[in-house]
Amino acid sequence: MIFRVPSYYDDFHCIADKCKDNCCIGWEIDIDDKTFKKYLSVGGDFGERLKSSINMENPSFIPDKSGRCPFLNKDNLCDIILNLGEDKLCDICNNHPRYFEWFGNIKEGGIGLSCEEASRIILSSSFSLIEKEIKDEETEYPDEENLFDFLLSAREKIFSYLSDENIPLENALADIYEYGLILEDIVFDGDFNAPEIKSSGKKFSLDTDKIIDFLLTLEKLSPEWEPYILSTKKSYKGEDFFIRETDKYLRNIAIYFIFRYFLKSVYDDEIMPYINLMTISVFILAFLFANGKDFSLETCSEIAKNFSKEIEYSEENVEAISYYGI
Ligand code: SF4
Repeated sequence: MIFRVPSYYDDFHCIADKCKDNCCIGWEIDIDDKTFKKYLSVGGDFGERLKSSINMENPSFIPDKSGRCPFLNKDNLCDIILNLGEDKLCDICNNHPRYFEWFGNIKEGGIGLSCEEASRIILSSSFSLIEKEIKDEETEYPDEENLFDFLLSAREKIFSYLSDENIPLENALADIYEYGLILEDIVFDGDFNAPEIKSSGKKFSLDTDKIIDFLLTLEKLSPEWEPYILSTKKSYKGEDFFIRETDKYLRNIAIYFIFRYFLKSVYDDEIMPYINLMTISVFILAFLFANGKDFSLETCSEIAKNFSKEIEYSEENVEAISYYGI
């Protein structure tokens, strides 16, 4: 089986106690069956601590009153790693922030924007894909091989278009939006030849007030999100927000969304929701970056990470953005 990932995939290493936004705080972390059984077999004081910190009915770590994982120590290091070793982590802790998708004999993976270190890598790294052979895993097969090849070819064209800095990003987004509509017709007709993306000279644009108000109607995961959005909206004076300083970050984010979501079309025959998720996310992030007034990688990757946590951690929010206006 082929495992395909962005070339920066192996650059990711959790920065643990240096992370400002530890992913072991604020979530109930589920434990997979295999690891749960291993934890039950651990003896001694640490075994007792494990058993008393796990919800036995629905195996998960019981967070403390402030929402911290019970094994996250005062130095923000993981006591399971320190006592049992890194190979004893449950699947979620072991994989986070990596994500995976299976398409027959191809497995794709990446690192998610919701982690502060991953976000820094995604925004700042050039994108290319690398492949390696891995041993076979249980997988879902796309029903239509032609459709899969068609989507792969269309995705390559979208990557190239987004990477071409001679095409202003606002224009690229508008053209890719139009391209998505064309792809949808092709999928409907079943004639699987991916055309080139055409330049229309149009710029992608949304009503800023409306899209920010819409953002405020979504499920809220962090208490800081709404005040942050409201203050950004208040300080906005109508300036352009597709600016040179953040262009590279936004292109990389656009490619991230296309790589992570677009091929899912093979399982539902839908194109526009995945295009919409990318264009709207990039539009909102362009607005937030520009209004942050600090275009450093550190600040922009922090904003992108917070956006991703609010949106990508909630299926409801991903769906709301994907279907916004369509
Ligand atoms: S958010 Fe990322 S860098 Fe921070 S603790 Fe989690 S995995 Fe590590």
